[in-house]
Amino acid sequence: MKLSLVVPCYNEEGNVELFYEECVKAFAKTDIDYEFVFVNDGSRDKTAEKLKKLYTEKTESRITVVSFSRNFGKESAIYAGIKNSSGDYVSLIDADLQQRPEVVIEMMNILENEPEYDCVAAYQGVRKEGSVMTGFKSGFYKLINKLSEVELHADASDFRTFSRTVADAILEIGEYHRFSKGIFSWIGFNTKYIPYEVQERNSGETKWSFTKLVRYAFEGISAFSTKPLKLATYLGMLTAFAAIVYLIVVIVQRIWFNVAVSGYATIVALILLLGGIQLFCIGIIGSYLAKTYIQSKHRPIFVAKEILKPKEKFNKA
Ligand code: UDP
Ligand code: MG
Repeated sequence: MKLSLVVPCYNEEGNVELFYEECVKAFAKTDIDYEFVFVNDGSRDKTAEKLKKLYTEKTESRITVVSFSRNFGKESAIYAGIKNSSGDYVSLIDADLQQRPEVVIEMMNILENEPEYDCVAAYQGVRKEGSVMTGFKSGFYKLINKLSEVELHADASDFRTFSRTVADAILEIGEYHRFSKGIFSWIGFNTKYIPYEVQERNSGETKWSFTKLVRYAFEGISAFSTKPLKLATYLGMLTAFAAIVYLIVVIVQRIWFNVAVSGYATIVALILLLGGIQLFCIGIIGSYLAKTYIQSKHRPIFVAKEILKPKEKFNKA
């Protein structure tokens, strides 16, 4: 069984070496033939040097190092990693040792023994975040599952192992704004979800801030749903209906009850409310338009500065 470990690395100088050692240790107990595909996503620290060192010194392992010309983001790194992998199976795993290589072995066992599955995805059995964050995330999944045509498993991460067929399907999707969770769900295939225990980050810090997560959530929704575009129609119908009702009330008051209808405050409030709704809807349309615009330029998903390829091919049959 030939396995490619695709490892996106952004500022992971304190982790890549230990990650390598831990993988070698874990896989030594198995007969899995594996390779590393490190993607240096434009790191600003010494990650590039560390990866190069691994590449030149650890000649006993098959190592590929793809170096980006700048930081393109984890999604692009995953794409580049899969593209440069050659195993029959591909595993996406973080470089910070939050995800243990032992779980990859567990995933491989499932793929081997339960051929009905094409993909095994791990989800955090117990979330180690604050309750606000957990609440926010579960709210997001409820919303995206309601809005989009794809079904997302609430806690599933990018930590997964899949067959070459699945890898090829992912590469087929050439969209620029990539939201892997949605892509995995969209391509279909039989996926088994297994719980795993997320570890503490070995060194460095997470690249996710709260605002980045909120932006990511919007990206996810707009990548897999066009329902927000219809919001303007629904709000328009609603306000038009309310306006007609209000108009009738005003006419009745004027004709039958002779009420002098005054409405300076009402008018100001309504103008502001409607202006707000209109701008909000234009903003939504704008964000979709922006994506269409970028996609229409057919820019590459990543730009590689250098690709270090392993000298030898997979050896064991
Ligand atoms: N990563 C990347 N490019 C980025 C941000 C992150 O390749 O722009 C990599 C990072 O090096 C790590 C993985 O993606 O291997 C997950 O990132 P992180 O640990 O920050 O996320 P978390 O585990 O906190 O969700
Ligand atoms: Mg991490």
